[in-house]
Parts: sequence; structure tokens; C-alpha cells
Amino acid sequence: MQLNEMKAHELLPLLKKKEISSTEITESVFKQIDQRKRVNAYISIMKDRAFQQAKIIDKKYSQGEIKKEYIAGIPMAVKDNICIKDFPTTCGSKILNGFRPPYNGTVIEKITRHLGIIVGKTNMDEFAMGSSTETSFFGPTLNPHNLEYIPGGSSGGSAAAVADNQTILAIGSDTGGSIRQPAALCGVVGMKPTYGLVSRYGLVAFASSLDQIGTFSRDVKDSALLLNVIAGYDPNDSTSIKSETIDYTKGLEENIKNLKIGVPREYFIEGIDKRIKARVQKVISDLEKEGAVVEPVNLPHTKYAVADYYIIAPSEASSNLARYDGVKYGYRSGSSGSDKDLLSMYFNTRREGFGEEVKRRILIGTFSLSSGYYDAYYLKAMKVRTCIKNDFEKAFKKCDCLITPTSPTPAFKLGEKTEDPLKMYLSDIFTISANLAGIPGISIPCGKTDEGLPIGLQILASHFQEKKMLKLAYQAEQLLKKEM
Ligand code: GLN
Repeated sequence: MQLNEMKAHELLPLLKKKEISSTEITESVFKQIDQRKRVNAYISIMKDRAFQQAKIIDKKYSQGEIKKEYIAGIPMAVKDNICIKDFPTTCGSKILNGFRPPYNGTVIEKITRHLGIIVGKTNMDEFAMGSSTETSFFGPTLNPHNLEYIPGGSSGGSAAAVADNQTILAIGSDTGGSIRQPAALCGVVGMKPTYGLVSRYGLVAFASSLDQIGTFSRDVKDSALLLNVIAGYDPNDSTSIKSETIDYTKGLEENIKNLKIGVPREYFIEGIDKRIKARVQKVISDLEKEGAVVEPVNLPHTKYAVADYYIIAPSEASSNLARYDGVKYGYRSGSSGSDKDLLSMYFNTRREGFGEEVKRRILIGTFSLSSGYYDAYYLKAMKVRTCIKNDFEKAFKKCDCLITPTSPTPAFKLGEKTEDPLKMYLSDIFTISANLAGIPGISIPCGKTDEGLPIGLQILASHFQEKKMLKLAYQAEQLLKKEM
């Protein structure tokens, strides 16, 4: 096995014993990136900086200076909507062309402090709006399992990079499913932590009350390792929560006897791919054999989740994206002298800089927030959001975790849904509710379709119950391993 195909928790002991070096791991990752450019997983790479860091870290390992080796010397990729000082951050958009942030996001500071090596910025749907990575200004990312298919989105670049061994770990953001859905479609593990557990400082805002940074990895243990690094209170983010420091890698092996698993009836509906349904149900019954207690639960407001999200997320986006006006960031129209005054510069910059999907969201959001419509749309949507949150609270009184499919379908072909936004929006039908409620969720691979496309299983838990969620995910992963 090549170094770039291994997991962080397999590489770390070898680094510690000095059997391998961080420079060698980094070399093997960049070799794969060079060979697999077609996948288009990265928007930019950071080769020089990565090798400089690897050299320093190798020295630290050789001098025995590394204490907490959660990710020390491990290459990772970062979604291109998280700010790295002096490196381009594009959000997959033309409008941020030339923007280099003057500061590091908090997760970047934390990764750097823990000696992780950032190898590049990954491709994404423009401003994280999409489920297929096809709305990127830099062209779509392809699914490494079959290059005719999409990798999911919006963090499709991060998911594909992990699946294709073009990195060991990756960071993404999840506003309505953008970590879990591409993880499912690419056959890797993707986790969205509780809202407020990981600082959003330096994450370019899409819908601030829903956005959450999270992890991509090849297995559950690696996600736990990376969560150890990025979780924690940050005074720079007013929604960050003061919580105790937890080692998420501890307790994964504990048995799940009497753990209560809820299976929401509303997630096994008509229209869901048969093979996905069968695979997820098989895992649930295997967990029951291991001693977990399985019972059906109801989340009655699930049917409103997609509609609700598509009022709230665009409303927040229309406000957040007002700042791109050609003055403060990136792209400005009129290089040919076409702008006759300030106002036409604003209009032209936004017309030329934003893609179609972003414009659609700005229009929906501005409409829902406008006077006269606010009560009918935005306010109503906020009330429905509370109902969805209450559904989960009730369910978590009865059970520890919920298990559902991550996505109603496996990966679809490039271009298959681009003409029909509503069809595209339904890709997140099983992931969106967790963002509306602020609860954590993880997707783990649980088999493949007959065409060889990955299937994902989602585990949800109550606020700040990541430990329980990871334990169940780990146990399910072990059972799946035995099956293969
Ligand atoms: N697909 C959803 C959307 O387009 C979710 C995106 C996300 O989680 N960033 O809004």
C-alpha cells in the first residue's frame, strides 16, 4: 500500500518510530494529485509551503519534540471557502478572483498549531450552493469511482480528494448536507459537528445560522482525530460554545449493548433507491444483533425541511453576499471602461461575477426578506424550523442516535440535474434537517450499488453527543468490515 492510501492513525505511529517521514507522505500525495488532475479535486495547491512544513515536522519528530501527534505531519486538504492568510480563497466563484485573505481562519490556526500539512484548497459549488460541485467557476469535480458521475457537493473536491488518495484528511463545510452527501457519494466518512462546536471564524459565510465546518476521512477514527484538533471555543466566533475538552478517539471500541437506535419512518419513503434502503436496513439489523435496541421513531415535520431550508438559507445568503460589490473583495467589472458610474460598477460586478445558482438564491432570499413578504415566508420558515428542532428533541428523549440513509440516490451523471434546480435540491432531503436543528451528523460508507457507486449511511445524535455518534459509527464500520 502507498503512503497516500493510508489512514492518519496508521501513519502516525510509523512517523513516531521514524520508519517513514512526513516528507515522504507529502511526496506520495502530490504524486497522486499530479497524476489525477482530471478529477479536478483542487482549485489551488500549496506545494512549496507543504514541503517546507514537512521538513520542519520531520526534524521535530527526529528530535522527539512532538507531544500530541493527532495530525502532526499528516497532509490535508481544505475547502476553498476557508481563509488561509495570503493564499487565494475563491469559494469556487469568479467574484473572489484575486482575493487573498489577510488572516487565517481559526481551523487553519488549529491545524497549523497541531502540525497538520495543508496541501491545497479544494473545489466546491460556488459559495457552497449546490449538491454536485457543478456550479464551480473552475469546472466540476468528477467522482473518482466513475468519472462520468458527480462527486456530490458542495464539498465535492474535499470528498473526491480523500476518496482518490489525493490527501489523507480534508476539511469541508456543511450548511444543508455539503459534507455528508458528498462523503456518501464518494465512499468516505464525512462528519458535521454540532453547530457551535467548531469555530466558523474565517469560513466565508453562506447561511450563518446553518454553516458548520467538519471533517472528511477514510474511517471514523481519523474523523475523531481531526475533530480533536478543530473543536473548541473561539472568542472570534460569537456562536462558538464553551465546552469541555474531549478526546473523541477515546471510547470508540466500547460496546453498544442497550444503545437505543431510532429509525425515523419519514426517512424510508417512496422514491428512495431500493439498494440504499436495503443496505441501511441490513446494517441496522446487524447492530441489533450486537445488542443495540432498535425502535421506529417519528419526525413528523421532515416533509417541510427542504422547503424550509430553501427560505432560510437563501435569505441569509442574500444578506451575506451583499458585501461583494467590486469594492471590498476580488473581482471588479469595468476593466474595459464599461462602467459609467459607481452604481453600474456594482451591477456589472455582480452580474459578471456571480453564477446562475448564486443569483437564483440571492433573488429568492431578497424576496423572502422584503417588507410585506417577510411574515409570510421568513418568519413562517423560522417557526417551522422550531417544529423540526422539537421533533428531534422528542426523538432524542427516547433514543441515543438515529440511523438514516445519507442520500436518497447514489451519485448521478454529470449534467443530469443541472437544468432542474428542484430535483437538485432534493439531494439533501435527508441531511438538511440536522442543520436546521443544529445537531451533529456523520455519513459512513455502507456498500456499493451494482454499478459500483458508493452508498452512505447517516447517524444523527443530539447536540454535543459526538462521542456517542462516533462510537456507533465506529461499531457499524467494524461490522461492515467483517462483512467484506
Ligand atoms: N445542497 C445544499 C444547498 O445547495 C446544501 C449546501 C451546503 O451544505 N453547503 O444549499
